[in-house]
Amino acid sequence: MNKRNYAKELENRIWDFQNKGEHPKLLLHACCAPCSSYCLEYLREYFDVTVFFYNPNITDGAEYKKRVEEEKRLIGEYNRQVLLGIFDGMNSSRNAGKIDIIEGVYEPGDFYKAVAGYESCPEGGDRCRKCFELRLSETARIAKEYDFDYITTTLTISPLKNADILNEVGERAAGKEGITFLPSDFKKKDGYKRSIELSRRFGLYRQDFCGCSFSKAERIQKSD
Ligand code: SF4
Repeated sequence: MNKRNYAKELENRIWDFQNKGEHPKLLLHACCAPCSSYCLEYLREYFDVTVFFYNPNITDGAEYKKRVEEEKRLIGEYNRQVLLGIFDGMNSSRNAGKIDIIEGVYEPGDFYKAVAGYESCPEGGDRCRKCFELRLSETARIAKEYDFDYITTTLTISPLKNADILNEVGERAAGKEGITFLPSDFKKKDGYKRSIELSRRFGLYRQDFCGCSFSKAERIQKSD
């Protein structure tokens, strides 16, 4: 079976929207500001984007607050660019629109329940699949409630995350709600590299572990 090229699939969809003169409503699940930086720069050209910050996997309230505040600050920076007519990004042009944000419920118990029995899996394994299922199911549910056309996630920008699993989980979650999941692999086409440049430019807080207590313990173990 041919391997899917999610970045190309997304480009083709965008090409299709543009030909039809459409500017669809997208609910973008975001894990953190550094990962969002490139995804937002790219997507705000073609979509009416609302960020959905839903991450009950994050270790504790203090870490959660840091990440969500940075996400809001980044969105504020992009919206300020639109307001002032500053279009200096690699992918920014006059089509870029204002970005909104919806904050999901931060209830770590939901994460621990979702990954029960998979706690000891290494990062990238079945625990992560369960974590993606939780976060993308809620994204799809909210997208349906607020009448969005599409959902996708910033998670595919990470070189440590499997794009096949994320797209499969996202498509299934979206399908259950009658929403369409936009295929993505944001790390491609220098997306990951650009996210590092943008993170530096905006001085974004870059955490050194994925998010959950298990990934934090793995990181500490590796640095010992
Ligand atoms: S390592 Fe990341 S993706 Fe995997 S379970 Fe933890 S927070 Fe979720």
